[in-house]
Amino acid sequence: MINQKILCTVAVLCFMLSTCGCGAETQTAEESRETVIDETPTVSIPVDPAFTVVIDPGHGGEDPGSVLGDCLEKDLNLSVALKLKTMLGEAGIGAVMTRESDAYLSSETRCGTANAAGADLFVSIHCNAFEEDAGVQGFEVHHHPNSVEGVKLAANVSEATALTASGATKRENKASSLDVLTGTGMPAILIELGFMTCPDELGRLRNGDYQDSLAEGILQGIVTYLGE
Ligand SMILES: [Zn+2]
Repeated sequence: MINQKILCTVAVLCFMLSTCGCGAETQTAEESRETVIDETPTVSIPVDPAFTVVIDPGHGGEDPGSVLGDCLEKDLNLSVALKLKTMLGEAGIGAVMTRESDAYLSSETRCGTANAAGADLFVSIHCNAFEEDAGVQGFEVHHHPNSVEGVKLAANVSEATALTASGATKRENKASSLDVLTGTGMPAILIELGFMTCPDELGRLRNGDYQDSLAEGILQGIVTYLGE
């Protein structure tokens, strides 16, 4: 138990250091569990390292997803997913990736990975496109129509991302029967990070700092969900 406590404290400190400066203005002292630095972001860190999130970067291999010039959706998805994996690890939360390279996976394989891992949550990461109107932008979160927990998780991730991702437009969350939401046996969401067809948003999506802020929002949403 002592070792576990030490490890958790280390994880908390690492996480705080890694997120220092992101969204500090939005924090309140009452919410803080640690008082290492006054401006420390306040996120409740779950102490159960057995808790596992499956991260599913959409598309891959022969399936690029949306393509805008030289920018492929599958690459953006993987980049943000890997950042999220690192942040989850720093927060003491287990992370399993459905893919960590440019590989094609069927929906069945993605769901199978999550179900076999006995994961607690499933988070699929995509980018949107709407060729009819380049002005449409923003992120949105999809959840299973009948999953109360999925609705809660989607709401938490959406609200947290609206705070961390500067310049992002928060769109309404959607009930959806996408394969990865219906085939997974745990609360599941699919996040559309933004519209690649909007030039301004595509510029942000390609930016490493912005990708960090998106991953940070997803992490904080997961942590808030776990604390409810
Ligand atoms: Zn996609």
